[in-house]
Amino acid sequence: MKRILVTGGAGFIGSHLCDRLIKEGNDVICLDNYFTGNKRNIEHLISHPYFELVRHDVIQPYFAEVDQIYNLACPASPVHYQYNPIKTTKTSVMGAINMLGLAKRIKARVLQASTSEVYGDPEIHPQTEDYWGNVNPIGVRSCYDEGKRCAETLFMDYHKQNQVDIKIMRIFNTYGPNMHPNDGRVVSNFIIQALKGEDITIYGDGSQSRSFQYVDDLVEGAIRMMNSPCDFIGPVNIGNPNEFTILALAQKVIELTQSKSKIIHRELPMDDPMQRQPDISLAKEKLNNWEPKIQLEEGLIKTIQYFEDLIRKS
Ligand code: NAD
Ligand code: UDP
Repeated sequence: MKRILVTGGAGFIGSHLCDRLIKEGNDVICLDNYFTGNKRNIEHLISHPYFELVRHDVIQPYFAEVDQIYNLACPASPVHYQYNPIKTTKTSVMGAINMLGLAKRIKARVLQASTSEVYGDPEIHPQTEDYWGNVNPIGVRSCYDEGKRCAETLFMDYHKQNQVDIKIMRIFNTYGPNMHPNDGRVVSNFIIQALKGEDITIYGDGSQSRSFQYVDDLVEGAIRMMNSPCDFIGPVNIGNPNEFTILALAQKVIELTQSKSKIIHRELPMDDPMQRQPDISLAKEKLNNWEPKIQLEEGLIKTIQYFEDLIRKS
């Protein structure tokens, strides 16, 4: 049994990670300030003897004796991370400093949930980990992109200067149950619009692409990364290389929900990346042949089921 701290544990990805870590017999502290997370996501764990829920903000130091730290705390959807951009940068930067400081003091291993956004609007395709990215430092997405880039820098420097045991994974677009219904990300937006018979809002002409990963594949990758040999620190891409245009995603969601919703077009947000696809050769090589197992249709069906239940209950 390991003692594990998950920051952002009440969020979408964090709640799935807590579930899996508890199922595997670990002792888990879930830390969250509930900005975008929700107790509902982990309420079934609250009575578990090895699960502890802590309301805390990662921009303040936190102390606990643990063996591993997954640092996930940070709003991830453009709507939420742009709501208070200064707080978003603080969360990434001060959160990283606080978790690295904790890891240094207690000699824990710490994994950073970084993002494909560090590649910005990429000029190379697919993206490999050695690509430095194409990021606007002063745009509307910068609080998130640059915050995460700075967090990677801090992780590397704590490792080089203080020998902290670190891991960095760059997560590509991930979806699944427990996504916040109002977080504005494309998969949850399209599914909710389709289920409610509302217009499906494509930003721009829909030719921009993303590669969508189902949350269970990500959790498997994250756990393998955390438990990989200490000389492999990353960064490593964790994503599903199957790339779809946003128009193709909208059509798939309409087909699977048998919705009568119409597609409408809205203005493309500023600095919206045109394409995104992970090269996952490094993850396959270093993480015991890790690769995504759940493809888009199967993952969408599970996610549609989740939102159907949520809408029925509300
Ligand atoms: P989410 O918004 O559902 O979860 C983030 C969690 O962090 C929430 O529970 C939120 O309340 C908590 N949080 C935010 N600020 C905090 C703070 N200052 N102190 C404590 N808790 C705080 O998002 P998610 O999709 O689950 O993302 C989890 C992590 O994975 C984030 O770090 C995100 O950047 C990263 N990531 C996600 C994706 C994706 O597609 N979902 C892609 C790349 C990276
Ligand atoms: N998008 C869209 N309609 C929506 C929400 C998003 O067309 O209702 C587009 C968005 O402009 C982007 C893509 O879908 O091109 C993915 O957006 P999301 O916010 O999910 O993720 P990110 O842009 O951070 O990859």
